[in-house]
Amino acid sequence: MIRCVSCGAEYDDDEVIYTCEKCGSVLELVCDIDVSKDIFDGRRDNLWKFKECIPVDESKIVSLDEGGTPFCKCDKLGSELGVNLYVKVEGSNPTGSFKDRGMTVGMTKAMELGVSTVGCASTGNTSASLAAYAARGGLRCIVFLPSGKVALGKLAQAMFHGAEVMSINGNFDEALEAMTALALEKHLYLLNSINPYRLEGQKTIGYEILRDLGWQSPDRIILPVGNAGNISAIWKGVSEFYNAGFVKDLPMMTGIQAEGACPVTNAFRKGDKTVVPVENPETIATAIRIGAPVSDIKALNAIYDSNGYSETVSDEEILDAQKLLARTEGIGVEPASAASIAGLKKLVDQGVIDKGETITCVVTGHLLKDPNTAIDACTKPTEVDADIDTLRNLLMNK
Ligand SMILES: *Cc1c(COP(=O)(O)O)cnc(C)c1O
Ligand SMILES: [Zn+2]
Repeated sequence: MIRCVSCGAEYDDDEVIYTCEKCGSVLELVCDIDVSKDIFDGRRDNLWKFKECIPVDESKIVSLDEGGTPFCKCDKLGSELGVNLYVKVEGSNPTGSFKDRGMTVGMTKAMELGVSTVGCASTGNTSASLAAYAARGGLRCIVFLPSGKVALGKLAQAMFHGAEVMSINGNFDEALEAMTALALEKHLYLLNSINPYRLEGQKTIGYEILRDLGWQSPDRIILPVGNAGNISAIWKGVSEFYNAGFVKDLPMMTGIQAEGACPVTNAFRKGDKTVVPVENPETIATAIRIGAPVSDIKALNAIYDSNGYSETVSDEEILDAQKLLARTEGIGVEPASAASIAGLKKLVDQGVIDKGETITCVVTGHLLKDPNTAIDACTKPTEVDADIDTLRNLLMNK
């Protein structure tokens, strides 16, 4: 069953519907978990090990073996900050971001519905993922990207997997509005995160974090927030497993935004339930360069209901954190992902996060998604001949 998060109106699972017909709010799938957690044991460690908890037709699954991502204990960085730190590395998914979790479920639903064309607007990773899953499912794929604002690796992926790519003269919010209008005219099946099936895939990040910690909840989960689907999905996941009795506690959901694109943090600071859009969002972290998040209500509910928090970080703090994580722990992430680490640092400094807390930072996308930003942040390699004496001198004099 699909249910409106605001007015509670109910819709059938097979209705192609993105927002509530009665009040215009966002929708979610209602899932009751009536299995024992023991059934997950011994299965291959990917997203579909949780298939009983994902409301789609198992015989239609389109998968690239997504999920089951690394869960790295980060003692060096953790002890520097005085917390017990784990990093969930979503860049290890097939196309290099957590979007694959949403797409495997969204594409499976598309197959179930029998659609021929899928589409999305994207800051990059959604299009990269959709293009790959549409190829795997054999469907036509249309993507709208904000012109000039998509990191190189993501653009390469969307194009190479055969999506029909339109470069839109406008920002992400405008591209999404146009794509949504076309979906409502039934030209395509929309696979942005307003589609509640996307979040059914992404909620498994929450499932896995609880499982990865030996069926315990961290005190806090910290992640970057753009369109606000992922924080909503992870909260849904941990809440479902909590309600099923698999864990005794719930984490405080902590959403980090970039200073130049922070409608959710603004709303949190005022205690509001919905956001006031930011007109011209700007940040180096292009994946979260979003001014009008579609899942604002769900995300703010997640933050308030979990006694969580929201904070902003500057582009400089993001780039520093990206480098810090890469150089102290060997984990390479794209700028948006590093917002979680930057936020952790800031909230420890502010005393919002207590010493000794168990924290899971979700790092959402791979370093290679945005090679230009990575190269710009480094000193150039030294040009030198392959002469052993010169090289020895250079190395010894460092
Ligand atoms: C999509 C994305 C985000 C933002 O997630 P939302 O669900 O839009 O809040 C953050 N980081 C990366 C790398 C992403 O691709
Ligand atoms: Zn409604």
